[in-house]
Amino acid sequence: MTMRRQRCAKIVATLGPASSTAEQIRALFAAGADVFRLNFSHGEHADHAERVKILRALEQETGRPIAIMMDLQGPKLRIGTFQNGRIELHAGRHFNLDLDKAPGDDKRVCLPHPEIFKALHPGDALLLDDGKIRLKVLSCDAKSAETEVISGGPLSDRKGVNVPNALLDLSPLTDKDRRDLQFGLDQGVDWVALSFVQRPEDIAEARKLIAGRATIIAKLEKPSAIKHLDAIIEQTDAVMVARGDLGVEMAPEDVPPMQKRIVRACRMAGKPVIVATQMLESMITAPAPTRAEVSDVATAVYDGADAVMLSAESAAGQYPVDSVAMMNRIIARVERDDLYRTILDAVHGTPDATSPDAITAAARSVAETIGAAAIVTYTTSGSTTLRASRERPPVPILCLTASQATARRLVLAWGVHPVPMRDVRSFSDMVQSAQAVTLREGFAHKDDKIVITAGVPFGTPGATNVLRIARV
Ligand code: PGA
Ligand code: MN
Repeated sequence: MTMRRQRCAKIVATLGPASSTAEQIRALFAAGADVFRLNFSHGEHADHAERVKILRALEQETGRPIAIMMDLQGPKLRIGTFQNGRIELHAGRHFNLDLDKAPGDDKRVCLPHPEIFKALHPGDALLLDDGKIRLKVLSCDAKSAETEVISGGPLSDRKGVNVPNALLDLSPLTDKDRRDLQFGLDQGVDWVALSFVQRPEDIAEARKLIAGRATIIAKLEKPSAIKHLDAIIEQTDAVMVARGDLGVEMAPEDVPPMQKRIVRACRMAGKPVIVATQMLESMITAPAPTRAEVSDVATAVYDGADAVMLSAESAAGQYPVDSVAMMNRIIARVERDDLYRTILDAVHGTPDATSPDAITAAARSVAETIGAAAIVTYTTSGSTTLRASRERPPVPILCLTASQATARRLVLAWGVHPVPMRDVRSFSDMVQSAQAVTLREGFAHKDDKIVITAGVPFGTPGATNVLRIARV
């Protein structure tokens, strides 16, 4: 297996029934998967525990840190059940929703979420079954709503409900999420993805429970989150553009501009951003993607996203390994394009007035000027490395850290190759270790120049304040 990836953008692969054995997971890693996602909307705890065990063994086997993301289901809203299991809704007819647990019929059904009725107003839209059915609220009170069917169709037990524009008084963490979170943290997951984040406070609540044991990805899949975009990016550690639910809650043509806006805002803030859902959707059942899907993945890479994600393609599809290999090829091809650099450089944040940002911006500039083979960052928390990644430099970034947790988390970040190692003790130790690691991991040849950033004095937690050029 290769020690290093030949690309900067990363691949997140969701695990599931099609990718649960050690052999299958090893094949995904070999094809290019960097971050593995455990989707807690599906599967038992025992399934997830088994996958964590396999991934940590794979880490040992390959000597490469692997990031594990747990994705919490969040407050997915659902209707109740029907007397006959399913009904047919016809456009123009009226249909009621209420809190009555009794099985529904073609006049009404239970919607067991009082917080929805509290937030509804006449004229609001309610979307059922991934947006296939659309209802318009005619009147409502605290316990029920009368609606008109705008787009009809079949509706069956427990289908999902989206309320596009309402800000719902929901905790983003249900009781199930809290149990899952505890379990995931005990398993040592690196990233926790929060579904249906609506406001910055949602992240603060999760952060208290997580208490530093993992870092947080805010999944942006509700228009209400977009209203607080900057504050959410500020609070979170990373972001996922969750286009599945976002595309239900917004018009489809609004999703691409939104994706561009989110990716750009995250890049300016230096927070890793993942573009997710339906990226190679047709590869769930076909060995090759559509041209449009290839173009979609390429667009995310040209925009400078940190990672692109596979969902059902790798979790439940017929071609999980081919899907990863396809993404790997698309990313590598885009990154070889001369125009890629031009497009990437069009978005570039200015450094904050801090030592780490000053050193990091200088490191990029020095690396370009002297044609360095790599930038080597020494870090404890990973924050300096993330600032280096924010620069999107034209050379690889190594993240040398004594923290295994940091090494694993940083796998997600654009252009970063993390290497766990012991703390360095002196300036010459710092230089020699950087030389040895870049050589060993295949980032430099003998006589290549490298740029090193670190914080001295060593061993005291302090901000990055040193930039050193060295020859390998
Ligand atoms: P999900 O999130 O797959 O957990 O729904 C991603 C999305 O909505 O795009
Ligand atoms: Mn979703």
